[in-house]
Amino acid sequence: MEKMGKRFQGKVAIVTASTMGIGYGIAERLGLEGASVVISSRKQKNVDEAAEKLRARGIEVLGVVCHVSNEQHRKQLIDQTIQKYGRIDVVVSNAAANPSVDAILETKESALDKLWEINVKAAILILKDAAPHMQKGSSVVLISSIAGYQPQGSMAMYGVTKTALLGLTKALASEMAPNTRVNCVAPGFVPTHFASYITSNKAIRGAIEERTLLNRLGTTEDMAAATAFLASDDASYITGETLVVAGGTPSRL
Ligand code: NAP
Repeated sequence: MEKMGKRFQGKVAIVTASTMGIGYGIAERLGLEGASVVISSRKQKNVDEAAEKLRARGIEVLGVVCHVSNEQHRKQLIDQTIQKYGRIDVVVSNAAANPSVDAILETKESALDKLWEINVKAAILILKDAAPHMQKGSSVVLISSIAGYQPQGSMAMYGVTKTALLGLTKALASEMAPNTRVNCVAPGFVPTHFASYITSNKAIRGAIEERTLLNRLGTTEDMAAATAFLASDDASYITGETLVVAGGTPSRL
């Protein structure tokens, strides 16, 4: 890690839902590559602990409480970032909820609303607040899912919201061009808290590994590396794309 390149030196990166799991891994990676990172999640304690861990690795970090579906929190996230750093170069929209394991037609209206609000609408609203502060060369990465390509089983409606992010990536890439690139990462299964109801089940985990060409689950570092690439100038001619990071799990041609 010490010898890592510094693609984000002098840059400011906001990562939502970043006090653990994939979001934390992304914040850590961007920070180790020189970014000042703004981390956030719903709970102050989680924000404080994650910020401390990142500082211990020599990363410049600002921690803000932000439940992504709370308008005031979103405003504070952007305002505090601008107050402290004066610019936004990268936004990674990583928050998601999966409040129901029911079939789509059995899912309560309140759960459908929550899925839309957190997984899709909040991403749009955060970018709406951030966009006025993003200049030429800036970049957005949305975190979708392999489930967006094949919405099925107990995750079907969650998958559909992740499919929406594939379309949102294309639409926003066009809307935010040419100054801001917008891309997307579609992770395969990563054994985080979010996925634990799947990955901690031995039989399901085995089945997932079996249909993954590389025969293993993903890691937060795998997702962070792909996100950092898309957010960096190494991807300066790439916009509107989704990178599937799922070890060869069937997705699209
Ligand atoms: P995770 O390890 O459970 O971490 C979730 C993080 O989000 C925590 O920091 C949590 O902190 C925060 N959070 C939860 N709800 C929030 C909200 N409404 N507003 C703000 N922060 C919130 O989850 P993960 O597996 O890393 O998932 C991250 C993203 O990857 C999601 O978009 C998910 O759909 C996607 N993904 C995950 C997998 C997988 O297998 N893990 C696969 C494909 C895609 P607080 O509790 O303090 O809020």
